[in-house]
Amino acid sequence: MLEDKFGRRFHYLRLSITDVCNFKCNYCLPDGYACDTERNFLALPEIETLVNGFAELGTSKIRITGGEPSLRKDLPEIIKACSTATGIQHVAMTSNGYKLESDIHKWVDAGLNSLNISIDSLDPRMFSAITGHDKLETILCGIDKAIALGVKVKINAVLMKQYNEQELQNFLAWLKITPVTLRLIELMQTGDNKTFFEENHVSGTPIRQQLIDNGWGQLIRDKAAGPAQEFFHADYKGKIGLIMPYGKDFCATCNRLRISATGKLHLCLFADQGLDIRPTLQSADSNELQTTLKTLLGDKEATHWLQDGFTGGTKHLAMLGG
Ligand code: SAM
Ligand code: SF4
Repeated sequence: MLEDKFGRRFHYLRLSITDVCNFKCNYCLPDGYACDTERNFLALPEIETLVNGFAELGTSKIRITGGEPSLRKDLPEIIKACSTATGIQHVAMTSNGYKLESDIHKWVDAGLNSLNISIDSLDPRMFSAITGHDKLETILCGIDKAIALGVKVKINAVLMKQYNEQELQNFLAWLKITPVTLRLIELMQTGDNKTFFEENHVSGTPIRQQLIDNGWGQLIRDKAAGPAQEFFHADYKGKIGLIMPYGKDFCATCNRLRISATGKLHLCLFADQGLDIRPTLQSADSNELQTTLKTLLGDKEATHWLQDGFTGGTKHLAMLGG
């Protein structure tokens, strides 16, 4: 099992397969994708070596992310490489939903279990103002299709003071009738968005209190779960998750490691740099990969320093997948 010096165990791998994205979310890539980095993304055989090596070290859940992962033509093959690896029990993906309606069948056939779709607003005009795309309706149709196919769906929404902060009631009304988990993510500062962050960060703490005051109960967290505190309510078909990276002890339950699309291990979302493990993937040597991972994990720190404005080498989250 992969375990760090603080006793945290790593069951969960977040695998970025591209940093390219077709959206222009105002908090992430406001000017769109800039082709200014290496685009030599991990190939399928490298991904197979990677996934099997992690699985042998106790990883049970993989989340495929990006950039926008659905822009990769071999996405179904990548999902399949994950879902067929011995020991992997859960394959999830985070996507902007652009190709959800057209491609969900292929993803499910390949073994995808759950999906996080980013929807920052249920108002089409606001959605378009945030993402640069008038695609809300198609994405909502795709979500219905995914639910009908038995996929567990979560919705990611980043709350922003000057945009969608007032939309909590809309989201709640939707959750009354829709069996999804809505995860409200606190806006995080990255290297590129300092001013936007200062103008738009909304704390999750008062929202948490508001939920409790209105009869929402907190669920117990599973060992392979993500970082959200989840809440349920008997009158609602959906649930709510709060992701509060600025909260006390956020890092104490860290159970995930990240691999960038070019094969760099990131010990934290806000680490100074990624650690290159690609040579071990290219040599397809699982033992060497496992030894390298265990050694590199020795440098994982207890916490990020985001609350002090330290964003490490992370210019925006499309680089690594959030
Ligand atoms: N493109 C896909 C998507 O948007 O779902 C996957 C990659 S995206 C980087 C993953 C998640 O990170 C999205 O839900 C997005 O809203 C979130 N995200 C991006 N930048 C963020 C920021 N600065 N603070 C908080 N969440 C952010
Ligand atoms: Fe693209 Fe996702 Fe970033 Fe939006 S949040 S720009 S969809 S990578």
